[in-house]
Amino acid sequence: MATDTVSEDTTADEPPLTDAEMQQAVKDNPAMRHLEWPVTTVNPVRVRWRYAIGIPFIHLLACLAFFPYFFSWTGVVLSILGLYIFGTLGINLCYHRLLTHQGFVAPKWLEHTFAVLGVCTMQDTPACWVAMHRIHHKHSDHRTDPHSPLVNFFWGHCGWLMIINRDFINVYDYEKYTRDILRDPFYLKLERNENWLWIYATSMAVFFLGGFGAALAMGGTLAAAVQFGLSLLVWGVFVRTVVTWHITWSVNSFTHIWGYKNYDTDDNSRNNWLVGLWSNGEGWHNNHHADQRAAAHGHKWWEFDVTWITIRSLEMLGLVRDVVRPRVWTKSAA
Ligand SMILES: [Zn+2]
Ligand SMILES: [Zn+2]
Repeated sequence: MATDTVSEDTTADEPPLTDAEMQQAVKDNPAMRHLEWPVTTVNPVRVRWRYAIGIPFIHLLACLAFFPYFFSWTGVVLSILGLYIFGTLGINLCYHRLLTHQGFVAPKWLEHTFAVLGVCTMQDTPACWVAMHRIHHKHSDHRTDPHSPLVNFFWGHCGWLMIINRDFINVYDYEKYTRDILRDPFYLKLERNENWLWIYATSMAVFFLGGFGAALAMGGTLAAAVQFGLSLLVWGVFVRTVVTWHITWSVNSFTHIWGYKNYDTDDNSRNNWLVGLWSNGEGWHNNHHADQRAAAHGHKWWEFDVTWITIRSLEMLGLVRDVVRPRVWTKSAA
């Protein structure tokens, strides 16, 4: 599927627009919101098979949820809770606001715990995610942005993951963007020997064996225990992983196309209330582009941001410190 749309080299000879030209074009005429693929896409184009096969494959596993055999209410509840635990705490709070933007400081034990939750969403290692995202901020909606949806919606959503980009072939390519992260041996270890994938596999085992053991302990038959364990695996891991992916991806796609701007940024970032709600606060993306370090992405009182509420609660409990507030709050308070 992905290979059909990307098999030709569209980065051919025409000179790319400079950043300034692109910026002006987008500002002058919304219909010109179109970009070529990132210049960092390898030439000739090569498919990143691990992602091009892995992403549809996990979607197929999630589709097992349509079979009644794999259903249990416990699985559904774990899936919904998992969106918060793995998606909000692991990705929004840790990968994004803490590791990428250093919006607050957490003790190492807590930071690493949140990072492991992020790894369990199968969105790459912390260092790789941080590198991609820092490059995105550096070149937002310009030709070197790894995932601008101004190329096309599918590219910005997840197509970009399936094509080899020179910036992400291995850790040596993105090391320069993540020296602060890789200085910590914990994050370096996650890069080695596919350790991060083993953590994901362990989370699968925990969900299955947890369900299997609980059913047996409550006097269920072996067959019932297998069924219950599988229901937790399908709903608690595969369905939750796929939903978390689309939530994160929608921040890259939807909120660089649709929504309103509070700030006149040099990119096409938008505040999108739908994404704001389903991503627990990451959809206030224009605010975020305007004030990247701020740990709160909702700047107006009605821009509801569950991730910020969580960070604020951790701060009140004394678990995190040096929390960066949006400049617009501190300015208006002064
Ligand atoms: Zn960011
Ligand atoms: Zn963005």
